[in-house]
Amino acid sequence: FVELDRVTKKYGENTVLDQVDLAVARHEVVTLIGASGSGKSTLLRCVNGLEAVQGGRISLNGDVISGEGVDLVRLRRRVGIVFQSYNLFPHMTVLRNCTLTPVRAGVATKAQAEADARVMLERVGLKDKADAYPDQLSGGQQQRVAIARAMLMRPEVLLLDEITSALDPELVIEVLNLVRELAADGITMMMTTHEMPFAREISSRICFLHRGTVLEQGPPEQIFDSPGTPELKAFLRRIH
Ligand code: ATP
Ligand code: MG
Repeated sequence: FVELDRVTKKYGENTVLDQVDLAVARHEVVTLIGASGSGKSTLLRCVNGLEAVQGGRISLNGDVISGEGVDLVRLRRRVGIVFQSYNLFPHMTVLRNCTLTPVRAGVATKAQAEADARVMLERVGLKDKADAYPDQLSGGQQQRVAIARAMLMRPEVLLLDEITSALDPELVIEVLNLVRELAADGITMMMTTHEMPFAREISSRICFLHRGTVLEQGPPEQIFDSPGTPELKAFLRRIH
C-alpha cells in the first residue's frame, strides 16, 4: 500500500536514508525504531512530501508520490502526519482548528466539516472542548485534537512521529489509547515512538533503522525477543 523502493535522502553530503526498501500493507501499523539520528523522522517526512528524495521511489496505493511533478497538496490530503509538538493554531478554537483544512481543501463544506469535526471530537473524548482554545487544553488533549484534525482529512495513511514524547506521563496514556483505537479500526499507520511496550502491542511490524538503512524488520516478538544483528541488540540494551 505504501511502498518505498530504494529511497535515498541526502542533506548535502550527509546520506540520511540509504536505499531504503519498505512496504506497508493496508491496515498495517509499522513502527520505526532506531537510535537518534537514524532517519526515522526523515523517512516519515519523505512519505508525505515534506522532504524530497534524491533517489528511489515512494508510492501510495499504486501512485508514485515522490519526485518531480507530485501534487503536494493532494499528497498531504492523502497522508496525514502528527508531530511531537501539536502545531494547533493558537488563535482558533478547537472546532476551527479541525475544520479549517477540510474546508480549504474542498473536502467538505463548512457545515459538513463542523458536523464531522464534532463527531470526531466526541470520538477522541473532547466533545465539550469544541469552543475552547488550544492553550485551555492539556498537552494530551491538544495532541488528541491534532490527531482528530489529521483524521478529518480521511487520510489513507497516518504518520505519527513521537506524538507522546512531549507529554507528561499521565497524559501519554490517553493519547496511546486513541492510537490503539485507530489501529483497531484498521487505519494504516507508520509511526515512531519511545513507548516500546505500546509499539510491541499495536504494531504489526517493527522496522529497525540504523544509519539510514533498514537493518532488520519483522513482527514485534521477533525484533524485541530475538534481535538478529549486534546493532539491534545494542540498541535494545540501551533503551532498557
Ligand atoms: P530522533 O530519534 O532524534 O528523532 P531520527 O531517527 O528521527 O532521530 P532524523 O530526524 O530523521 O532522525 O535525522 C536523521 C539525520 O538527518 C540526522 O543526522 C540529522 O542531523 C539529519 N537531518 C535531519 N533533518 C535535517 C535538516 N533539515 N537538515 C540537515 N540535516 C538534517
Ligand atoms: Mg525523529
